[in-house]
Amino acid sequence: GTPLAVLSAIARIARSGAFVKDGAHLEALSAVDTVVFDKTGTLTTGTPTVVGVRTVDGTTAEGLLVLAAAAESSSEHPLGRAVVAHARAQGLPVGPSAGFAYEPGRGVTATVAGRAVTAGNRALVPDAPETLEGQGTATAVHVALDGRYAGSVLLADVIRDTARQAVAELRGHGLRTLMITGDQEATALAVAAELGIDDVRAGLLPDEKLSAIDAERAAGRTLAMVGDGVNDAPALARADVGIAMGSGTDIARESADIVLISSDLDDLVRTVRVARRARRIVM
Ligand code: ADP
Ligand code: MG
Repeated sequence: GTPLAVLSAIARIARSGAFVKDGAHLEALSAVDTVVFDKTGTLTTGTPTVVGVRTVDGTTAEGLLVLAAAAESSSEHPLGRAVVAHARAQGLPVGPSAGFAYEPGRGVTATVAGRAVTAGNRALVPDAPETLEGQGTATAVHVALDGRYAGSVLLADVIRDTARQAVAELRGHGLRTLMITGDQEATALAVAAELGIDDVRAGLLPDEKLSAIDAERAAGRTLAMVGDGVNDAPALARADVGIAMGSGTDIARESADIVLISSDLDDLVRTVRVARRARRIVM
């Protein structure tokens, strides 16, 4: 049977807002040496807002936004939605597009008013200037018109207010922290520096997140993975303990062993602490 210390630990954690699917996950959590975090929607709130628009000569900010928003109008990605919401808030028309295609981890393409519009990162818009990548914690969505770079929409995501303290406390327990993200390196490094995260892997396509988990495990690490996205689901399933944000996608919550119901990273720290204490009592 499950030791009493583990049962009482689960009860204590449940009251604090983490749902543990099985007592065995708590035991696994007490043994991890590394906590891997997704960035967008996990360490940040995942609701970015537009903070600036840059354009090359011959394109206006309004013109760029109108075309980018139309191209993103079918997008379910937080960045795409933010571009559309911003255009609407500016009173700009968000017209129809044809031939919408989403390339996960890269961006979107569509035809708008007869023009080929691409909105995404440098993988999709390679002629975007590199200087725009290093704008602190902001993410750039680059826009190309008919295959030529035309400008960028800069979006800032907000770091969760409990993230810094949570990372510090995990490190205080001797745990290594790692960020794996599909976002560009400059943005990832800026967020990691602000939070004191030990290591970063950026620009990862969905299957590369899983490879990153495999590489860590092959190196002998025992991992907890915390994430929210469709892209995170395989990594959550593969980690020794998968932990999903309550605000995350259905598939992330289904793939995880533990769910942080109110997406509060304090609850993550509390769960780790209680798991480690239960282990000391039982062993
Ligand atoms: P994360 O791992 O941070 O959750 P994703 O894998 O969803 O990120 O996306 C990675 C990157 O792909 C984004 O930072 C962005 O550069 C680009 N991207 C994805 N979807 C879109 C979109 N709809 N519009 C523009 N860029 C996008
Ligand atoms: Mg995410």
